[in-house]
Amino acid sequence: MADLASSLQAWYGGTFDPIHYGHLRAVEALAKEAKLTQVTMLPNNVPPHRPQPGASSVQRKEMVELAIAGNPLFRLDSRELQRSTPSWTSETMAQLRQEAGPDAPLGFIIGQDSLLTLRTWHRYEALLACCHLLVCRRPGYPVEMKTEEDQRWLSAHLAHHADELHQQPAGKIYLADTPLYPISATDIRTRLARRQPCDDLLPPAVLDYIHRHALYRPSPAAR
Ligand code: ATP
Repeated sequence: MADLASSLQAWYGGTFDPIHYGHLRAVEALAKEAKLTQVTMLPNNVPPHRPQPGASSVQRKEMVELAIAGNPLFRLDSRELQRSTPSWTSETMAQLRQEAGPDAPLGFIIGQDSLLTLRTWHRYEALLACCHLLVCRRPGYPVEMKTEEDQRWLSAHLAHHADELHQQPAGKIYLADTPLYPISATDIRTRLARRQPCDDLLPPAVLDYIHRHALYRPSPAAR
């Protein structure tokens, strides 16, 4: 039988503008619960038609590097930032599936807010065919899907135990019982622009980086 403690590789996509304890602590708890030994952070490019991040791609990547330094659970894959255009998650995971081979269990980690909109994602069925989805709880977002049809779709894919994620390569959705962290990057950016403290919300090295690079300051018009 496969070694459950090391068989499932997981990726965590996000804008990470900036990375915060809501990302890090939720995933650390998920890793314990689902027996993940490695989580790869996958910062994404933002499509030009969407509001642009406050920090550049390089700065978002460097903040992730600082946040995970010395923590063997995490590593970084900056492949999406190296492309000149934004990538669909389904395409990146298809590439990772090719690299890992057909039998390796792969996971993509999201928060509950992302699960609620998942069926609007580009080729979400193809994404689920490539990997499992591991969902962290997030305060302020309902546990029920928006429609009965979405809920039926979710029920059809649910993993009832984390071990199922290690026993097949893809296709399951696991709702983890992670603690609730009421933290969002939007709130952090707003607090920083108002010069409010953020010490409990993100790692000190990331906060120091933000101050050194004068990120998330109010625009001159708003001062
Ligand atoms: P923003 O406020 O700018 O939308 P965010 O805080 O949601 O940012 P993202 O980088 O967009 O951060 O999120 C990446 C992933 O992390 C998403 O799947 C999101 O659901 C998840 N996530 C973010 N914050 C939390 C949190 N506090 N608890 C659980 N999951 C979270």
